[in-house]
Amino acid sequence: MITYLENQSRAPSSSSSAASAASAAVISDLDGDAAELEAYGRDFGGMTLAVPAAVIRPSTSTDVAGAVRFARSNGLSVAARGNGHSVHGQAAVGGGLVLDMRALSSPIALVRAAGAAYADVPAGALWEEVLEWGLAEHRLVPASWTDYLGLTVGGTLSNGGVGGQCFRQGPQVANVAELEVVAGDGEIRVCSPRCNSDLFFAVLGGLGQFGVITRARIRLLPAPDMVKWIRVVYSDFSRYVSDAETLVGRAGPGLLDYIEGFAFVNSMDPVNGYSIVPFEPKFSFDPKRVPQTAGPLLYCLELAIHYNHGDDTVDQRTVEMLRPLGYIEELEFHKHVSYVDFVSRVKRTEEEARANGSWDTPHPWLNIFVSAANIVDFDRKIFRKILRRGIGGPMLVYPMLRSKWDERMSVVVPDGEVFYLVALLRFARPPPVGPSAEEMLKENRKVLDRCRSAGFDFKLYLPHYRTQNEWANHFGETGWRRFAGRKARYDPAAVLSPGQGIFPL
Ligand code: FAD
Repeated sequence: MITYLENQSRAPSSSSSAASAASAAVISDLDGDAAELEAYGRDFGGMTLAVPAAVIRPSTSTDVAGAVRFARSNGLSVAARGNGHSVHGQAAVGGGLVLDMRALSSPIALVRAAGAAYADVPAGALWEEVLEWGLAEHRLVPASWTDYLGLTVGGTLSNGGVGGQCFRQGPQVANVAELEVVAGDGEIRVCSPRCNSDLFFAVLGGLGQFGVITRARIRLLPAPDMVKWIRVVYSDFSRYVSDAETLVGRAGPGLLDYIEGFAFVNSMDPVNGYSIVPFEPKFSFDPKRVPQTAGPLLYCLELAIHYNHGDDTVDQRTVEMLRPLGYIEELEFHKHVSYVDFVSRVKRTEEEARANGSWDTPHPWLNIFVSAANIVDFDRKIFRKILRRGIGGPMLVYPMLRSKWDERMSVVVPDGEVFYLVALLRFARPPPVGPSAEEMLKENRKVLDRCRSAGFDFKLYLPHYRTQNEWANHFGETGWRRFAGRKARYDPAAVLSPGQGIFPL
């Protein structure tokens, strides 16, 4: 059953009456509320507003198909909305239909095939719900995680889904065995690497352009009990990079399960400085250990090893792993935590940000994949120049391997086997304490201009562009031809996900 919320006051009358017609056909439980409707026009970025004509809450893929067919035959756009955690209005659809994917109601189910375990998950499920289900029912968990788990399965699969397991397990888009998709023609199709494979790979990282994912079959692994969580600090970025790349090349069972890292300010600044490194205030960061020659930024490599209760080798394995690394002696922090606490760690950041108000301020985030060939120059020309005072939030920088990504997917990454995620995750206090959104956006543009003028090989992750030309450049000549061809094949009327701004009507 579909429930929906119609825009009584702000939508163009044609859209509003079209939505009313939809209600006669497939929609019931009319429940309009202008404020709630407006909330569906915003997202985590807090910088855009595009109020939909109606919000549809589909509980089945048949409901989704009905809504897509209805939108198509009435000249309306339609967008799946996961948890609205985009930052530039990518899930919004002004004057059109928003599908609130959180309403999909099928239960998560365990599937075993060819000796492997999978979860069949409704696309609107949050990753934290998949975690909870897997632990409670089967002691099985997804192989690859994002840092934050309040994101939907369909939302991250439409982008990539990256985190510290990527170097070993691949991104989330590389850990899917099958999808159920409602394409732009309103047909429900099941696809996998062997069946309807072009649609399968199109949708993975496809920015919602080819179909609405309604169900995903996610690869599972046995859940470890515990995690040894380690942070080590560098003053020399070249050494940081060389150690990180050695570690990603050495991954194997029992060696290393997670690698991330971040740049931070070489000062006592309470938001951007030393205090963000130790896990808890009781582990103190001794600035006297930082060499006099250090620059404005330091770098923290974050590592984790999984283990089970009764395994008493993990500390020794850690010592062996760390021995060849060139971090600053005694700027080394360790912690044993449960696996659940580890993968849910950003939940605590969310609680703190909600408490200090920075969860609700604008978030002009910038995520860039930068080739390993350019990352040291990125540090020299961008981290240590433009970003040397910090950004009021994490500045992640860690490597992943191109061979873990499938080139048939829509998502694009730089050339070369190793590339880095650089994530500028701005959490600013409202002005006048913090900078305005416009100031932060200006700084982002400066970063990208510098990347271009320096000739770096880079791609935006969670991309956002204003013109089709920029999108074509993003995908490259062959990639754009493929992307546009897939659009013509699966969503010829271009009704899906207009908030990405790729195919204007
Ligand atoms: P939405 O923002 O609602 O949607 C994103 C896009 O996907 C839209 O175009 C929408 O139309 C489309 N879409 C949504 N659902 C579907 C579906 N079922 N079928 C087809 N298209 C669909 N990303 C990472 O990779 N790693 C991280 O560690 C990470 N951490 C984050 C932490 C925070 C606090 C936030 C706010 C974001 C983070 N992200 C991370 C980014 C996240 O992956 C994106 O925001 C992504 O869009 C998922 O969010 P969502 O589920 O709310 O999707």
